[in-house]
Amino acid sequence: MTTATTVADPVTAVREWLDENWDPDLTVAEWWERLGLAGWSAPTLPSESYGRGLSRSDAVAVARAITEYGALNAPAGLGLLLAAPTITTHGTREQIDHYVRDIVTGRKAWCQLFSEPGAGSDLAGLTTRADRDGDEWIINGQKVWTSLGLTADLGMLIARTSPDAPKHKGISWMAIDMRQPQVEIVPLIEMTGHAMFNEVFMTDARVPHDAVIGELNNGWAAANTTLQNERAGLGAGGAAGGASVTPGTVAGQLERRAGDLVSPAESTQRPTGAAVRRRGSMLNDFARGAGKNADPTIRQDLVRLHILNEIGRLNGMRAKDVRAGGGDIPGIANISKLLMSDVVRLSRDVGLRILGPSGTLHAYTDDQRESLNEATGNPLLGMITGQALYAQAPPIYGGTDQIQRNIIGERALGLPREPGPDKNVPFSELPKNA
Ligand SMILES: Cc1cc2nc3c(=O)[nH]c(=O)nc-3n(C[C@H](O)[C@H](O)[C@H](O)COP(=O)(O)OP(=O)(O)OC[C@H]3O[C@@H](n4cnc5c(N)ncnc54)[C@H](O)[C@@H]3O)c2cc1C
Repeated sequence: MTTATTVADPVTAVREWLDENWDPDLTVAEWWERLGLAGWSAPTLPSESYGRGLSRSDAVAVARAITEYGALNAPAGLGLLLAAPTITTHGTREQIDHYVRDIVTGRKAWCQLFSEPGAGSDLAGLTTRADRDGDEWIINGQKVWTSLGLTADLGMLIARTSPDAPKHKGISWMAIDMRQPQVEIVPLIEMTGHAMFNEVFMTDARVPHDAVIGELNNGWAAANTTLQNERAGLGAGGAAGGASVTPGTVAGQLERRAGDLVSPAESTQRPTGAAVRRRGSMLNDFARGAGKNADPTIRQDLVRLHILNEIGRLNGMRAKDVRAGGGDIPGIANISKLLMSDVVRLSRDVGLRILGPSGTLHAYTDDQRESLNEATGNPLLGMITGQALYAQAPPIYGGTDQIQRNIIGERALGLPREPGPDKNVPFSELPKNA
């Protein structure tokens, strides 16, 4: 584990470290082992958990410095974003060494098994069951919307371990092996043409008892840590960057030469605040190139987009300062996520208006993309239509806009809570849809 302590200037520190350590001839696995154990893969984690205790904005600066240096960036994905901070907060020392080490070194990729066909916003209504069998749990149920499930080694599973407890109190958070034959992963094709998420069917799947993270039946607390990290990471406040190379044993990248995979391209999955901001300035250039920057309505929207992005950036800085003084801004993660929804919707609208009628064309495969670029002479077209189609996703994932507003109302503004007559009733006695 790293012995790193918090440093005054993390960007200088990581550059000096790269001078000593970056070697393009290492395999991806060897490089990520170095990067992760030095605390640079997930620098927001505490030093006892393979990190460096940095703020989120410093971590973004570190990721950018690694990219600018020309080295392969940290393993991206939900392991780093969600599982590692959850296990760090709720896991035992052994669990941190077992799971977080493999995340920061990119050895294992994770997916998030929270949503179900009947439990999304009302997540605590989940019906996936976990029944104890000696030292193991037997899992039966279905999850849906499981992003990156096909390349995941492990899943962050929340399942009902005590149906006789009220619905928030009988849930446990556990790490499930996604590669066991009792777990079936079925891809769902999105309107973008990609299949980022999946349905996951678990039929008598097995989880060892020592893979339960946090207290048994108190998985709601761990799930909230996962969700808070999701909102904070995905919001306009920015998130730690990551390589476009998929971690884990399934994607088959670990034995490749690290230097061959270095790319300035940002991940197309789940845009971060910083990535969304870069796209804002790309739209400015695009409008100029297309001769649309003199159109007053487009100019107005580009300025609105700039203002929203600036608010996001400044909110991130404000939150950092308040946190550095030991405080907190109630609801800031929810506000950041709402702001990102506004930014992606406005980017979609202004992008399509700049494109005009050709915005109705979209390439669903690589072959189609090539033909489209050739036919229109505009290589950015596919990217803008792709982002426009994907713009429906950020206002839903990680908790919908409506749910973010409910949380801000109840927890930040102190408004009356939504009526919850089912809160103290055993889950097994609640009425269910047939
Ligand atoms: C791109 C993408 C990736 C995702 N990846 C994952 C993943 O990896 N793992 C995972 O577990 N899940 C994932 N999700 C699922 C996501 O978390 C859920 O879609 C989300 O929580 C909403 O749940 P739902 O789809 O069941 O909608 P519902 O909860 O059925 O909501 C339907 C509508 O009702 C509104 N609504 C519901 N309750 C209230 C309320 N109390 N007050 C006001 N309005 C309300 C909602 O805002 C929404 O508009 C992903 C979703 C998307 C779009």
